[in-house]
Amino acid sequence: VQNLTKTYQGSGNTLTVLDNVSFAIEAGATVAIVGPSGSGKTTLLGLCAGLDRSSAGVVELNGIRLDDLDEDARAQVRNQHVGFIFQNFQLLPTLTALENVMVPLELRGERNIKPQALDLLDKVGLAGRAHHYPAQLSGGEQQRVSLARAFSNKPKILFADEPTGNLDAETSEKVVKLIFDLNQDAGTTLVLVTHDNELASKTQRILRVKGGKLVSDEWLNQSLEQNELF
Ligand code: ATP
Repeated sequence: VQNLTKTYQGSGNTLTVLDNVSFAIEAGATVAIVGPSGSGKTTLLGLCAGLDRSSAGVVELNGIRLDDLDEDARAQVRNQHVGFIFQNFQLLPTLTALENVMVPLELRGERNIKPQALDLLDKVGLAGRAHHYPAQLSGGEQQRVSLARAFSNKPKILFADEPTGNLDAETSEKVVKLIFDLNQDAGTTLVLVTHDNELASKTQRILRVKGGKLVSDEWLNQSLEQNELF
């Protein structure tokens, strides 16, 4: 991420939501993005994942410059490389839990997607809810479906916006374990936006955003010195 800036045009004024932010995250790392409400965390995550387009600056993901791409091309990159867990889950309401998980697999042109999707739901403890629609699931269950969906394309990088924000302590612990297992087992890079200090402290590095600026970059795990990684 280099000199990333995002502005919105209001009635006669320009709102700068992200202001000249730069950082690099190495493959396999775990990083938390923290900061006050409205500081630009979700915007930053969306730009890094190619969900949105910057006003200025560069986002490169696995060597691919996202800001050069149109929406269709960015969608392809997302489907190939990225898992995303949204703050409000964003499951498709007219599809069952199983069908929601099958969508990315189908988009990738994979075969035998139903058993794969069932397997993923089983992993998040929801095999018994496969045929329920999102409205028939609790918040925590919807979050776990969204996790199964995010895992389905075996992402190289997982972006999670407040993955535990709507969950009780027990479900939150389960979700956190699933996310960190993915990092441990598959080497998936984790970038989490969170207000939860305990979750942030489980990562290797904390990026702090305030008023759209990156105000600190703190490495928590000294065994992974910056120099070793770059
Ligand atoms: P929270 O912790 O409350 O989720 P955040 O740090 O994730 O907040 P963002 O959602 O990135 O903050 O929003 C940053 C700022 O950008 C906010 O002031 C918000 O009102 C503004 N903003 C976001 N999207 C738009 C938009 N589409 N048009 C105008 N302003 C926007």
